[in-house]
Amino acid sequence: MAGQDQTGQSVADKSGLGSNGHHPEVSTDRVLSSPVLVLNLNYVPINVSTVRRAIILVSKGKAELLENHRGEVRTVSAIVEAPSIIRLVYLVKRPFAPRKLSKKEIFLRDQYTCQYCGKKTQELTLDHVVPRRQKGAHTWENVVAACSRCNLRKAGRTPEEANMRLKTQPRVPQPNPYRILQNRTILDEWRPYLPWTDDDD
Ligand SMILES: [Zn+2]
Repeated sequence: MAGQDQTGQSVADKSGLGSNGHHPEVSTDRVLSSPVLVLNLNYVPINVSTVRRAIILVSKGKAELLENHRGEVRTVSAIVEAPSIIRLVYLVKRPFAPRKLSKKEIFLRDQYTCQYCGKKTQELTLDHVVPRRQKGAHTWENVVAACSRCNLRKAGRTPEEANMRLKTQPRVPQPNPYRILQNRTILDEWRPYLPWTDDDD
């Protein structure tokens, strides 16, 4: 390790135990797993990562530390700044890959709400609007979230046949940069970089 100052490796080491046998404070692990806002080169938020990962990116020169609201953190080999916002030094051109149709993505799109009765629940099933046995496609436009009660009631029929109405017309979800922040705590220091408070439309 002599002469090696880079912290990436050490920080990545989950045990957090240095070769010198020092135990990090309990809080170190908590700091290392704290969320960090990652901005693209053009300052568009593209990800929420962890302090651990951010320190590695910064130490490898792949990102610059923009803001530190946490002070320092002791890694195995060094004391380094603990970022809360970093910015990549290169441009990620397509940071939001098209979403793959999956149960989870459908539930997210439909906000965990049954598309027939409007009940918000974690106990959801996938419903093919036009049933598969009627050659309904497995596509964004034909798959919705339904509670098990509605799914049972609909029972292999179209909404018309079952006399049920869809709340909204199912669509392919648009890429949404702020989806990365769904179900996350937004730190105050991130807000200046999250332009949804700007009136730009
Ligand atoms: Zn329902």
